[in-house]
Amino acid sequence: MNYKNITVAGSGVLGSQIAYQSAFNGFNVTVYDINDDALKNAQDRISNLKPFYQQDLGATQEEVDAAYARLTFNSNLAEAVADADLVIEAIPEVVKIKTEFYTNLSKLAPQKTIFATNSSTLLPSQFAEATGRPEKFLALHFANTIWKNNTAEIMKHPGTDMNVFDEVVEFAKAIGMVPLPLYKEQPGYILNSLLVPFLDAAEMLLVKEIADPETIDKTWMIGTGAPLGPFAILDVVGINTAFNIVQAKAAATGDDNMNKLANLLKIEYIDQGKLGRATGEGFYKY
Ligand code: NAD
Repeated sequence: MNYKNITVAGSGVLGSQIAYQSAFNGFNVTVYDINDDALKNAQDRISNLKPFYQQDLGATQEEVDAAYARLTFNSNLAEAVADADLVIEAIPEVVKIKTEFYTNLSKLAPQKTIFATNSSTLLPSQFAEATGRPEKFLALHFANTIWKNNTAEIMKHPGTDMNVFDEVVEFAKAIGMVPLPLYKEQPGYILNSLLVPFLDAAEMLLVKEIADPETIDKTWMIGTGAPLGPFAILDVVGINTAFNIVQAKAAATGDDNMNKLANLLKIEYIDQGKLGRATGEGFYKY
């Protein structure tokens, strides 16, 4: 692995996890965010990850402290990327913010630096031009609670150099991820390309009053040997997120069943505080 210095831009939910996971696996990591307040939050957020590495991975106090010591925090982008081999961008999912970020970064980062976006819903080709180095740019998409749910979807856009792609696959392995290469752009990557239509189909069975959630889940679980059915998965995803997706589809398509489903999620779940696992109740009680 010829990368040593990693810069993580954006130190929110995912950025803080990506930074700490990389440091835990021996990389020097610079955490970049817009100002020192954001970086102070990042320090707290990352410190709070230490007990999870101890509980879930059996890491010792020395190991979690040594990982933290490999982090530096900087709100000056030029300094933060001055010797970066790889910049992983985990800033808000807003096209304008990301485009401006890449436009600035393109001028400040050394020629050697590879850029990767952790975007969940936007395609790398949308930003390829702004990076000023399309051949050294791709998507590297992690899942929340990265140390346990250790998938890394690595996705090319048409202009990504295959050697760069292979290097990033190696990097993902080096930080303990299971690399999942995607050779072409696909909105939703692999997981959501499978999961979203699956959850939609389950929700349609419910909204058309064909069967109740328990029956639908039981059918899937016994029929395929899967540990969870679609409604149990929706409880993990969270009913708010499910509602936002359904509402957007209802608005885009005007489909009656989608509208009915959005109302059902709002009135019977969200308004009752049943937001899924996080609140102790959604389709199921926990
Ligand atoms: P978040 O809101 O928790 O964090 C965003 C961070 O970016 C904040 O610390 C904010 O201060 C910082 N920021 C804002 N503008 C910036 C700028 N111009 N330059 C640098 N930093 C800036 O967001 P998040 O949930 O961590 O999501 C970040 C990215 O990761 C998004 O693209 C999202 O799609 C992706 N993602 C999120 C999840 C998830 O479960 N939250 C999972 C996979 C991928």
